[in-house]
This record gives sequence, structure tokens and C-alpha cells, in this order.
Amino acid sequence: MASAYIGLGANLDDPRQQLRAAVRQLRQEPANSSLRCSSCYQSAPWGDADQPLFLNAVVAVETTLEPLALLDCCQRIERQLGRVRNPERPWGPRRVDLDLLLYDNAVMATERLTLPHPWMAQRAFVLQPLLELWPTACLPDGTVLADALAALPERCTPLPDFSLT
Ligand code: AMP
Repeated sequence: MASAYIGLGANLDDPRQQLRAAVRQLRQEPANSSLRCSSCYQSAPWGDADQPLFLNAVVAVETTLEPLALLDCCQRIERQLGRVRNPERPWGPRRVDLDLLLYDNAVMATERLTLPHPWMAQRAFVLQPLLELWPTACLPDGTVLADALAALPERCTPLPDFSLT
């Protein structure tokens, strides 16, 4: 059994419902258990400013899936929820995006999967929800993620009236 953290993002077609649907599908995967959800946060788009605000959250899950199988599961959920990739706008608007942030202390860089997720320590919309679920979170190289967040200039805004559970 491994502990994994998955970052969720959505900014099209009722993003709140897209995130809820993604959580429901992660919970339905028989290899996943003990799923915990962070609060939802609103964040400015990153890398491609001309699009709606994003909703972001992080899910912690215990899983018996190996890292690539968990990525397959995340990508299957993206497809089932109707995500369409636009190769011309890799940072563009999307119905739902599931990123595998951390998988135990795994470190890997293959064509399909990089762990920990690249740039996660530079993104408040990842760190704020992740730290809610795991306040003492560290990267496998020892980086303390609360320190990484403290060093960032921006913060995203929690949505206190909306819960994923
Ligand atoms: P995105 O557009 O953010 O969904 O990025 C998807 C691409 O990034 C896919 O081709 C994945 O195979 C690749 N990728 C590499 N590392 C990761 C990761 N840790 N989590 C999710 N996708 C990843």
C-alpha cells in the first residue's frame, strides 16, 4: 500500500461539479482507499492568463496501484469527464486535470511520469491544499513544503462554502 497525493484542477463547465465527479471516480477505483480531500481554492491561471479562474484541490489516497497504473487511472478519469487536450494550449482551459504529485518517496523521470510532480513546490495552488492534508509534507529530497510555500509571493483563495466530500 502506498500513500499518494493527487492535484485536481478545473476551470470549464461547472468546475465545482467537475472536481466532485473526479473525487467520486477516484473513490470508486477499488485499489484506492482512505481518500481524504482538501478544501477547494480559487487560483489565477498559470502559464496562459487568457482563461477563467481555476478551482484547485488535493486528494490524499492510499492505493495498491503502482505509480504508472495510478497515472492511468487519473488519465482515464480525465477522459471520462470529457477533457479534451489542445496541443496548442498546454496550459489552457480544461474541464478537469489530475496530476500525480507525490507517491510515497518515489523519485522518477520517465517519458510518461515525473515524480514528484515538476514545479509543485513553486505553485501555491498545489501547496496550500496539500499542506492542509499533510502539514509537515516534505519532498523526497528533504525540501520542507511549508517553507516552499512561505517563499512564494502569491496565495490562492479558499472557498469556505464548498466541500468536495
Ligand atoms: P497535463 O496536461 O497537466 O495533464 O499533463 C499531462 C502530461 O504530463 C501527460 O502526458 C503525462 O504523461 C505527463 N506527466 C508527467 N508526470 C506527470 C505527473 N506526475 N502527473 C501527471 N501527468 C504527468
